[in-house]
Amino acid sequence: MAPVPAQLFDRVAIIGIGLIGSSLARVIRRDNPGTYITACARRAETLAAVRRLGIADEATDDPVAAVANADLVVLATPLSAYAGIAAQIAPALKPGAIVTDVGSVKEQAIRDLKPALPAGVHFVPGHPVAGTEHSGPEAGFAEMFADRWCILTPLEDSDPEAVAKVTALWRLAKMRVVTMPAEHHDRVLAMTSHLPHLIAYTIVGTATALGDDLKSEVIAFSAGGFRDFTRIAASDPVMWRDIFLKNREAVLDVLQRFSEDLSGLQRAIRRGEGDTLEDWFTRTRAIRRSVIEAKQA
Ligand code: NAP
Repeated sequence: MAPVPAQLFDRVAIIGIGLIGSSLARVIRRDNPGTYITACARRAETLAAVRRLGIADEATDDPVAAVANADLVVLATPLSAYAGIAAQIAPALKPGAIVTDVGSVKEQAIRDLKPALPAGVHFVPGHPVAGTEHSGPEAGFAEMFADRWCILTPLEDSDPEAVAKVTALWRLAKMRVVTMPAEHHDRVLAMTSHLPHLIAYTIVGTATALGDDLKSEVIAFSAGGFRDFTRIAASDPVMWRDIFLKNREAVLDVLQRFSEDLSGLQRAIRRGEGDTLEDWFTRTRAIRRSVIEAKQA
């Protein structure tokens, strides 16, 4: 029999119990069943779903009550809610508690959270790079994190013990944990995640702006690449609005490079420069092979 993992925290509060928060709750339930979990969301339907699914011991719409006595507080709401929640919960945090988050942008998350947190509370920003295009607690599942990367972006004064405990938590979720500066995280993710989503949102938007006859055919014959874009462009609108607003500089930078490359390919097509196109596509095919080898496909 596999050894039972040691219990990392006595009481965990998860503020925002959607796709990511509920998946983490399921991991804690599975591997640390003695941990008392309090889930916090705004809507009665979400709280009712949490109770029905049995993924927390308590479900509340009051973030202040949720964090009282918690050893670990996980923020898993859209990024735009961070500053307001931090101001609300700060006075109720237990001395010595660890605060972490799962937000997809790190520099601005730190700017929104850090100033509100009292001395004696340990802050370890994080981003489990895993997910689906679905939202809400019903969509979560414990295995979602398995074999994916979790990026922690500790601050210079982050307590090493707190970083070790948050690392252990994501290892429980079977993630590969790495640390890097927040600014570096944001530049990497702008390229690997934020730009691809922007492109998907653009393509699907362009297609839906076509005339009605063409639009129905685009949907009927969507297998030719378009279908994959529709899956990505079905991702949560609020979450993605926040990501683009909170990682503005890094996204604008990669978007500039992308536009220049797109213009280059446009020129090659117009001039009939087959070699340019073939060279480009040969390079990108090799990248696909490296992604598969890195087990990220
Ligand atoms: P989600 O499924 O939409 O869940 C969001 C949760 O936050 C819900 O429980 C919602 O409660 C709550 N919430 C929303 N606004 C709030 C507010 N103003 N105050 C308090 N609670 C609020 O979202 P998600 O996909 O789990 O994403 C959550 C975070 O994870 C985001 O910061 C995102 O950047 C990050 N992330 C997402 C993914 C992904 O693929 N989805 C991957 C990695 C990281 P109600 O249901 O009551 O509204």
